[in-house]
Amino acid sequence: MNCSQIKTLLAVVFITCMGMSSANAQDLIARQPPIDKKLKTIDSLILQKQIDVEREEFPALSLYPTWTNTSVHAYRGVPVPDTYEVDLTGFYMPTESRKVTSKYGYRWRRMHNGLDLKVYVGDTIRSAFDGKIRMVKYERSGYGRYVVIRHYNGLETVYGHLSKQLVKEGDVVKAGDVIGLGGNTGRSTGSHLHFETRFLGIAINPALMFDFENQDIVTDTFVFKRKASRAATSTASAGAGSYYRVRKGDTLSGIAASKRVSIKSLCQLNSIKTTSILRPGQQLRLY
Ligand SMILES: [Zn+2]
Repeated sequence: MNCSQIKTLLAVVFITCMGMSSANAQDLIARQPPIDKKLKTIDSLILQKQIDVEREEFPALSLYPTWTNTSVHAYRGVPVPDTYEVDLTGFYMPTESRKVTSKYGYRWRRMHNGLDLKVYVGDTIRSAFDGKIRMVKYERSGYGRYVVIRHYNGLETVYGHLSKQLVKEGDVVKAGDVIGLGGNTGRSTGSHLHFETRFLGIAINPALMFDFENQDIVTDTFVFKRKASRAATSTASAGAGSYYRVRKGDTLSGIAASKRVSIKSLCQLNSIKTTSILRPGQQLRLY
């Protein structure tokens, strides 16, 4: 562009600007922000939709790098956070059974990675939280017919010895959705549900989260601690104790009487005093 062309261009721009009334120019300026806002809203809607799709596709993506159906614990070598808060509030009890027949922990020198609950063949088994079905498999000498679900709260749950699996790998489920029927398949004597709660493959005592006897959760937020989980799996039956979730109006003596434990041992186990005020939702170790 030579000098005279630039002059012509400037003249054209000048005339155009002069031709536009100042009111029009104001209008244009005034209209700009809402258009921007609208675009931003559309952008964030699209982004939110993408996040929702991703969330559904890969539950707890920030924790779990892989999605595979090869094994229950498929995360060896994956970094485990020192602590992680697991939101349990969207729970649904996996079974109506209140009868724990075998606790978590070592038994006959073998680690029992879950809780056994008395169920009958054909009893309804439900997903404990919202999630996506990762495994639907059969293991003759172990879990029998089993289902593994990855949940959005960071946990994975395992349901073993089922007589029937009613979901497919990749299915998205809601808390309370029926996933199978109780049974006696695999390494099992007598029909029961073997229920596991795992975090990045690491088994956690389900009794720290679920109170089957009272059909409730033990706490709204379970805090996973890497060090504690190591200690729990390396020492015999550590973490296999029983817990109670304090309800409104509960007293220490009332809990002690109903659970048949001494006030003294309650105080010792929970590092509290007889005069300590109990908070509803507080988790008390019973033994
Ligand atoms: Zn079991």
